[in-house]
Amino acid sequence: MIKGNDPILLTPGPLTTSLETKQAMLRDWGSWDVTFNRMTASICADLVEVIHGGATHVTVPLQGSGTFSVEAALSNLVPRDGKVLVPQNGAYCQRILKILKYLGRAHVALDLPEDRYPTAAMIEEAFAKDPAITHVAQVHCETGTGILNPLAEIGAACARHGKGLIVDAMSSFGAIDIDASAYPIDAVIAASGKCIEGPPGMGFVIARKAVLEKCQGNSHSLAMDLYDQWTYMQKTTQWRFTPPTHVVAAFHSALGQFKAEGGTPARGARYRKNCDTLIAGMQALGFRTFLTPEVQAPVIVTFHAPGDPNYNFKDFYERVKSRGYILYPGKLTQVETFRVGCIGAIDSNEMRNVVSAVAETLKEMNVTKIAPLRAAA
Ligand SMILES: *Cc1c(COP(=O)(O)O)cnc(C)c1O
Repeated sequence: MIKGNDPILLTPGPLTTSLETKQAMLRDWGSWDVTFNRMTASICADLVEVIHGGATHVTVPLQGSGTFSVEAALSNLVPRDGKVLVPQNGAYCQRILKILKYLGRAHVALDLPEDRYPTAAMIEEAFAKDPAITHVAQVHCETGTGILNPLAEIGAACARHGKGLIVDAMSSFGAIDIDASAYPIDAVIAASGKCIEGPPGMGFVIARKAVLEKCQGNSHSLAMDLYDQWTYMQKTTQWRFTPPTHVVAAFHSALGQFKAEGGTPARGARYRKNCDTLIAGMQALGFRTFLTPEVQAPVIVTFHAPGDPNYNFKDFYERVKSRGYILYPGKLTQVETFRVGCIGAIDSNEMRNVVSAVAETLKEMNVTKIAPLRAAA
């Protein structure tokens, strides 16, 4: 690696940001400053448009990583006597269940294998079995594997039965369309450091206004009280408590670049090309993907680790890193895998280059048996 050259992050957040986004952080802001607060207001208005929710939804930004906003959404939007159905096919669905346990909110998991998605029929069966369910908490793209869950279908099922829908769209927001005007969504949650390509540090909950208005007193936590954050911001135009000013400024810049690129369709198309280029290159080296193409979101790809005894992830990771690319460990318990992200300010050239870096690394490690020891059935 040339000294001073940052490695390319092929990870699902933090990710590689553009120079323009990084440059937006070279200035200090006062949190009471009118220009700064206009930036916040502009971000909130733009985010609502991403899900076609201008007429119905409002954005509440929140300091912290994405999980802070997931926790805030669940604790505010699910009343204390509510019950949440969690279709579960990966690590981030499990995190939602863990949050609900911490919050003391009743919940039930609909467990699926990590390479299968829930269908409307499964969701409706769960509703029929347990009428106490009031909400569904659905991860859109399950970043643990990269599987895309069928949001429109699940949204329609929730609408038919009058259940609230809370969507963890952390790794899909801005890349895969979410249409709050086509199916009712109580809340969409995402963060600055994912497909909008900002730095990490703030999350946001895009909530249905009519629902949020009824949420006063639901939250157990002051710092995570979305209702309070929202009402305070409406009154003062300011964040409650110190905002991550540099992150907000950079996210504002990143959102401008997102719109200039052509919004969700253009960004999704770039990531799709990244994903296709990556998979084709890796398959040519002999790698196999964990997911079938039909369920693969163009966000992050899980590959089976090579079965060769000379392979180990730590060594592989370091050697690919020395060539300028940061990979991501696998998150599956049953099979050994690693992940490669397709998102960030990168294009298919980076994908071709990382495939070359992987090929050179395998040669260097004397790894010749690329087929996995054990693949999923
Ligand atoms: C990134 C991500 C989160 C949030 O993770 P943090 O580490 O808290 O930022 C939540 N859900 C999904 C699906 C994600 O991809």
